Amino acid sequence: MNLIFLGPPGAGKGTYAKRVVEKYSIPHISTGDIFREAIAKGTELGKKVQDIVNSGNLVPDELTNALVEERLQQPDCDKGFILDGYPRTLNQAQALDNMLTKMGKALTGALYFEVDEETVVQRISTRRVCSKCGKVYNLITLPSKVEGICDDCGGHLIQRDDDKEDVVRGRFRVYIEKTSPLIEYYRNQNKLFTLDGRKSVEEVMKMLFNILGGLE
Ligand code: AMP
Repeated sequence: MNLIFLGPPGAGKGTYAKRVVEKYSIPHISTGDIFREAIAKGTELGKKVQDIVNSGNLVPDELTNALVEERLQQPDCDKGFILDGYPRTLNQAQALDNMLTKMGKALTGALYFEVDEETVVQRISTRRVCSKCGKVYNLITLPSKVEGICDDCGGHLIQRDDDKEDVVRGRFRVYIEKTSPLIEYYRNQNKLFTLDGRKSVEEVMKMLFNILGGLE
């Protein structure tokens, strides 16, 4: 099952991907997570992308494509994968098609989580993440048991720099301009499945597992 999760920041892609991983045992590849980890560790890659990521702009295509190509060649991708936050431009989508062809693979489906700007802003500006283990919380819909402290590891909960409202609105604009054309791209390939991302997590999960069941 070779899947892409498409949708604006804050659509819940990461949350749904984690549930799919549990059921299908395929890796969850989030380019955003890879970049954030590199920044946190201060690696060469991290230094290169730090300012771009923190400002909510997109990392250049060549760099991102090369990183994904290397990741998809790891043996844990043999049974499939979920790409979350990639591709994000038409250039990336074409690069992905080429990579998959080269590897003798094909995309199974592009799951599109449709959410409007105000929902996104509301969700992301109330999102908090554990500074130690990365677990994601929401002040309104998914609070930790003790305010500001991670339930799992006791780490401090923080707001990502790029989760502040003005940056979120900027990321949404980038999404509309650069990423939303991919909806048409995958519709034309008959690979697009649209889910109403404003529904509750449980409702979306049900729709998602129904779709995935049909793709098995
Ligand atoms: P995300 O967690 O997916 O919202 O990604 C966080 C940030 O990482 C984005 O705002 C971009 O700066 C960068 N990023 C993640 N994925 C990509 C991608 N496919 N292409 C370019 N930049 C990306």
